[in-house]
Amino acid sequence: MATKFQNFINGRWVDAKSGRTFENRNPANWNDLVGTFPKSGKEDVDEAVNAARTAFEKWRLVPAPARGDLMRKIGDIMVRRKEEIAREMTREMGKVLAETRGDVQEGIDTAYYAAGEGRRLFGKTVPSELRNKFAMAIRVPIGVAGIITPWNFPMAIPTWKIFPAVLSGNTVVFKPASDTPKTATMLIDVMMEAGIPEGVVNIVHGGGGEVGNAIVSHPDIDLISFTGSTEIGKNISRMAAETLKRVSLELGGKNAQIVMDDADLDLALDGVLWGAFGTTGQRCTATSRLIVQEGVHDKFLGMLTERAKKLRLGDGLLPATEVGPCVNQSQQQTVQSYVEIGKKEGATLVAGGGIAKGAGLENGWFHEPTIFAGVKPSMRIAKEEIFGPVLSVVRIKTLEEAIGVLNDTIYGLSSSIYTRDVNKAFAAIRDIKTGITYVNAPTIGAEAHLPFGGVKQTGNGHREGGWTVYDFFTEWKAVYFDYSGSLQRAQIDNY
Ligand code: NAD
Ligand code: MN
Repeated sequence: MATKFQNFINGRWVDAKSGRTFENRNPANWNDLVGTFPKSGKEDVDEAVNAARTAFEKWRLVPAPARGDLMRKIGDIMVRRKEEIAREMTREMGKVLAETRGDVQEGIDTAYYAAGEGRRLFGKTVPSELRNKFAMAIRVPIGVAGIITPWNFPMAIPTWKIFPAVLSGNTVVFKPASDTPKTATMLIDVMMEAGIPEGVVNIVHGGGGEVGNAIVSHPDIDLISFTGSTEIGKNISRMAAETLKRVSLELGGKNAQIVMDDADLDLALDGVLWGAFGTTGQRCTATSRLIVQEGVHDKFLGMLTERAKKLRLGDGLLPATEVGPCVNQSQQQTVQSYVEIGKKEGATLVAGGGIAKGAGLENGWFHEPTIFAGVKPSMRIAKEEIFGPVLSVVRIKTLEEAIGVLNDTIYGLSSSIYTRDVNKAFAAIRDIKTGITYVNAPTIGAEAHLPFGGVKQTGNGHREGGWTVYDFFTEWKAVYFDYSGSLQRAQIDNY
């Protein structure tokens, strides 16, 4: 007796026009059906875009501070419903409750930041080169935003996009990942309870091929904010070029933690365990490479494997669980295939390596926390995003070598260095090519009010989070106001 969920279009809950549905199951126990969701198509997207387009003409005229008031209400409701949302999130995608609570908290922080931004959305005034003339640049809303998100942060990532989009005066057509439609539905529910006007936010569930494509190619959608894999991101970029949409892409990562000989090893150990195996390694910022200086390499590897082997796998709703399942079977298989690749490449398996077995793990997509030592920078397990609980350890001699290895990937999202030497830390900040660098902290742990994003093939140069995301969701309009009462010609009458 699974619950049946719907799309939300123009302020009403509706089925897919085709009547088709898909199932959403618990990855820790595939017998637990979370619900059925509409398997939508182009015709559903068309209706959502029409609603969003109509709503835009009213919503753009609502004063930004009033839009901010709505954001504050949304944040308040999320505070009240935090535990309920976190539990459902764990049930549908597997990460442990402490982490799903954190995921909701990031949404709350983003809501309150947006509430404050409603009273800022700063423009600029500058002097005109002519007398009796006033010059300024103001931010204006753009139109309908298509929002496409992955499953690993089912609340945080949608809110990073939807809240600034809506606060800026845009309206939204949102397609969440089909592994996490329930959390997305709860977000819409929260926005509805807060009183969001009809058509401002619309959700269309379904697959990337159908719903995603229809959004990206729709002529009446003005901008796309996408988080997901680099491969799909490139497709979206190509497709969106046809209608010259503004596109923000947050894509894959192959993040590394450096541990220097002078590091606090206990601290570095806690950091790498959290970075590599938190969220079962399924974070865009997960630590997937560990680069250790030779003086502490063997000792640190020993400490690490001992702790990694003790990590408790299980249902994320159980208090003792430290590592949840992979999100689905195909993700588990990807992890397994990389374990085989690592072995064939000649790396040494020092922890894990298999599908996890044991009491309570029989009906879930669990994979053992896995560590490869003796990894060479040229190996595939050192270069490709695995998106699972697999850590590749590389031994290096110097800081220069460490940074060279760290930078030797097509990605550039997050990075970390553990050292007690401030000179080394600042050199690393200067030379590491990533959008985020942590010193004496793991590669994960972004805060909602700082710019978030990566360089190289992790993205296309935009930033989410903080003040920077508002540059994506607004257009700059330059305004010249001449109060001289006569024609004044710039560059001519003043020189
Ligand atoms: P994915 O690329 O498979 O899917 C992401 C979203 O795109 C889903 O909603 C999916 O349905 C949709 N989609 C799929 N095909 C599409 C198409 N042709 N057109 C339009 N939309 C389409 O990624 P995933 O497996 O859900 O998430 C994991 C990936 O996301 C990893 O690569 C990870 O690094 C990345 N990620 C990046 C960040 C970041 O901020 N850089 C954050 C989280 C996840
Ligand atoms: Mn699910």
